[in-house]
Amino acid sequence: MMQHYLETKKQYPDCILFYRLGDFYEMFFEDAQTVSRELEITLTGKDCGLPERAPMCGVPYHAVDTYLNRLVQKGYKVAIAEQMEDPRLAKGLVKREVIRVVTPGTILSSQALDETRNNYLMCIVYLAKSFGIAISDVTTGEFLVSEVPTIRALLDEIYKYMPSEIICNEAFYMSGVDLEDMKNRLNFIISPLDNHYFDEDICQDTLKRHFHVERLEGLGLEDYKIGLIASGAALLYLLDTQKNSLGHITKLVPYQSGKYMVIDTSTRRNLELLETLREKQKRGSLLWVLDKTRTAMGARMLRSFIEQPLIEKAEITKRQDAVEELNGEYITREELIEYLNPIYDLERLIGRISYQTANPRDLIAFKNSLQMLPHIKHLMEQLTAPLSKEICGQLDTLEDLAELIGRAVVEDPPISVREGGIIQEGFNEEADRLRKAKTEGKKWLAELETKERERTGIKTLRVKFNKVFGYYLEVTNSFLSQVPDDYVRKQTLTNAERFTTDELKKLEEIILGAEDKLFILEYDLFCSLRNTIAEQVARIQKTARSIAWIDVLTSLSVVSTRNGYVRPKINEKGLIDIKNGRHPVVEQMLRDDLFIANDTYLDNGSNQISIITGPNMAGKSTYMRQTALICLMAQIGSFVPAEAANIGICDRIFTRVGASDDLASGQSTFMVEMTEVANILRNATKNSLLILDEIGRGTSTFDGLSIAWAVIEYISNTKVLGAKTLFATHYHELTELEGSISGVNNYCVAVKEMGDDIVFLRKIVKGGADKSYGIQVAKLAGVPDPVIVRAKELVEELSDADISARSKEIADASRQASHKKPVPKLDEVDLKQMSLFDTVKDDDILKELESLELVTMTPIDALNTLYRLQNNL
Ligand code: ADP
Repeated sequence: MMQHYLETKKQYPDCILFYRLGDFYEMFFEDAQTVSRELEITLTGKDCGLPERAPMCGVPYHAVDTYLNRLVQKGYKVAIAEQMEDPRLAKGLVKREVIRVVTPGTILSSQALDETRNNYLMCIVYLAKSFGIAISDVTTGEFLVSEVPTIRALLDEIYKYMPSEIICNEAFYMSGVDLEDMKNRLNFIISPLDNHYFDEDICQDTLKRHFHVERLEGLGLEDYKIGLIASGAALLYLLDTQKNSLGHITKLVPYQSGKYMVIDTSTRRNLELLETLREKQKRGSLLWVLDKTRTAMGARMLRSFIEQPLIEKAEITKRQDAVEELNGEYITREELIEYLNPIYDLERLIGRISYQTANPRDLIAFKNSLQMLPHIKHLMEQLTAPLSKEICGQLDTLEDLAELIGRAVVEDPPISVREGGIIQEGFNEEADRLRKAKTEGKKWLAELETKERERTGIKTLRVKFNKVFGYYLEVTNSFLSQVPDDYVRKQTLTNAERFTTDELKKLEEIILGAEDKLFILEYDLFCSLRNTIAEQVARIQKTARSIAWIDVLTSLSVVSTRNGYVRPKINEKGLIDIKNGRHPVVEQMLRDDLFIANDTYLDNGSNQISIITGPNMAGKSTYMRQTALICLMAQIGSFVPAEAANIGICDRIFTRVGASDDLASGQSTFMVEMTEVANILRNATKNSLLILDEIGRGTSTFDGLSIAWAVIEYISNTKVLGAKTLFATHYHELTELEGSISGVNNYCVAVKEMGDDIVFLRKIVKGGADKSYGIQVAKLAGVPDPVIVRAKELVEELSDADISARSKEIADASRQASHKKPVPKLDEVDLKQMSLFDTVKDDDILKELESLELVTMTPIDALNTLYRLQNNL
C-alpha cells in the first residue's frame, strides 16, 4: 500500500494527497506534517517498511469537506485518492485512484464559496511578446478568452477578475513580472504548468473535442492565437483536475479588454466599491447601496458591473433606458421581484447537475425555480426597452424540464440518492411494482405476527428488523417454553431470544429483494433524469443569464427610485457637470436629510483641475469620492444621487487617497504614495478622472509642497496629460496656482467661525481657504485644553513665512519657464527628472548661446563651449 501511495504521490507532487483508508483519508510524510500544522490535527506515525515510522495524520471521510475547504482556502491543492472497490470484496490490495484534484480556482463546495461572487481560474500564456488569457469559473461554466499586448494591460485583467488561482506557462513565470505584491493583496496562488499543456496542437485538439467542432474558426476565435493556447491549456487543466467531462462549459467567449473602464485595486479599495477599507465588509460599500438583487446570479452580475463599468455611450444608455422604464412600470417591477425571490442559483445548480453531484433536493429546488419562469417571461413581454426585449427573447421558460422533474421526483425527497424515496408514483411501472411488493410485504408481516401469536399463545411476540439479522421473531425469556419446534434460533439476548421460520425467511427475501431492487432502480432513474437535464445545459445557462440581467436591472431601478436618484446624461465631450450631487454611501449612513449636496463642474478646458482646501474633517474626501462614484455609477448604467448630472465617459478613474493603509506590505507610506502617483501620471489620459488627496503629505513640508506643485503642473499640461482632477490639499500655497496655470480653479469647504470654535458647513464654495483651523479641529476631537492653549501660543510665535516665501519662489520660477521650455513627449518624461529648477538652468544656457560670438571662435573653442554647455544640461 505504501508503495502505491508513493507512486500516486509522485504523479501529484504539488498536491497534498488525501489517501482513502477505510473511514479515513490519511496523509503521510511531508503532507502529514503540513496538514497537521495547518489544521491542528494530531500527528501520528505508521510503519512503512523504513527504519523510521512515517509521519501520518488523517481526517474522517464524512467530514472531509470541511478539512478540504480549509486547506484549499489556505492556497493548497489537494488530490483525493478514493477506494475504487468495496474493501470487503477486494482480493489483495484495494484499488485506489485519484478521482479529483481540488484547487483554489476549481473548488466546488458551496460551503467554501461566496455565492455572490465568481470564483475564477485564470490561465496566462506569454508568447511572442503577447499575453493570452483564459478565464473560467467551473461552478457556473463561464469560459472567456482574450489577449493583451502589455504587462500593464494584463495586470488590469487580473485586478478585474481577481482570480483565486493562476496557471501559466514557464515563459510567463520566468518573465520577471513581479506578482508578489499582487499575490498578497489579491490572495491567489500561481503555478507554472508543464510544457505539454501549451502545445498548440494538443490545445487545439482539446478545444475541438470539447466543443464538438471540426475547425476552431467556427468558434469565432481567429484573432486569438495565443488566447486559444491559454484556453486549451485551461481546459486541459480542468479536465485533468476535475476528471469530469465538464458538460456545462458550453461556450468559449472572446472579449476585448478595452471594452470597460479600468479600475485598479487601490482605486477599487479607496472608493470602497465592494467592501470598506478598514473592516473589509460589504456594509458601507457602493455594492451595499446598489445591491438589492434577489438571486445569487444577479448578485454576481451586479458585482461584475461595478468592477467593469462601460465606456460605450450606446451601451450605457441602453441600460439606462431599461432602468427608466422599470421605474415607470412600478407594478411590473414589483411583481418581477416577487417571482425572482424564490429562484435558486441556477448557474451553480447546473454545474452540480453536470458534475453529477446534484441530489434529489437540488432537482426539486431547480424545478421550483423553473416554475417562476413563465410568470417572469409574461411580465417581461410587457416591457418595450430594447435591452429588456433582448433579455426576454433569451429567456427560455423551460417548461418541459419543470414538467419532467415534477412528474419524476416526489415533492419532499431525501438528500441521499441511494436509499429510495425519490421517484414519484406513476413515473415508472417497474418502480411502482417493486414499491407495491414492499408495502404489501409489510402487510404480510403484520399478518404473520398475528398468526404466530395466536398459534403459540405468546402475547408479546413481535416481528422486528435490524440491518445485521434482517427480520426475526422476538420472544421474551418468560415465554421461551411456549416456542414451537419449527422456530430456528438466530440470536440470544439477556432478556429475549430471536427466531426465524421458513415462512418469515421467504417473506424477508421478497421484501428485501424488492427494496434492494427498488433502491437501485430509483437511483438509475434519478441519474438518467439528471443526465437528461444536463443535456439541456446550454438552454438553462442562457435562461440563468437572463434572470441575472432582470435581477440587476430591477435592483438598479429599485435603488434609484428609493434613493431619489436621477438619470444622468452621458456625453463624450469630457464634461462632468453634477448639480447637487450626494455621496451614495455617506447619505445612507446619515439620518434624515443631513447630507449636504454639492456641485461638481469639470471639463478639459478652463475647469480641468479643482484644488480643494479646507480643514480636516471638513468633507473634502467625501466630496471627491462622491464625484468619482457618481461617474462610475453613471457608467454602470445606474441612476445617480444628484439633482441633475451630465457625465463625460471616463476611460479610467484613479485615486490616491489617505497615507497609512499600506503598512502591511512593508513599504514606507511615502514610497507607496509615490509609487501610486507614478502609476497615475504614467497611465492616465485626458479622459481619465483623477482623485488626489493630500499628495506629498508623507514627507517634509517643503518637499511635499514641491511634489504636489509639480504634479499639478504636469497634469495640467494638456499636451502631456490634461486629465480632469480633484486635488485636495492642506498646502494653502497651492491656491496660488489658480490664475498662473490655466484650467486650475480653487475651491474650499466652507466653515463658520464661532468665537474660538468652528462649525463645518460641508458646502463647497469657490475660492481657497486661508486658514487651516488645525487647532480648532484638534479641540473638536477632544485634545485636552492645556495642549490647545499651548498650541495657540506656538502658532503665533512660529510664522510660516518661510514656506510662503519659498512657494512664491517656485511660482515665479515656473511662470518664467512655462512658455519657453518645449513640452516633453509623454514617453520622454521621467518623474525623477522633473526637477522644477531645470527650467531655470536651461534659461541660462539659452542666454549664453545667444551671446556667443561664433564668427570669432576657433573650432576647438566652439567644441569646448558646446561640451561645457552640454554638461550643464
Ligand atoms: P476631510 O477629507 O476634509 O478630512 P471627510 O470627507 O473625511 O473630511 O469628512 C469628514 C466627515 O464629515 C465624514 O465622515 C462625513 O460623515 C461628514 N461629511 C462629509 N461631507 C459631508 C456632507 N456633504 N454632508 C454631511 N456630512 C458630511
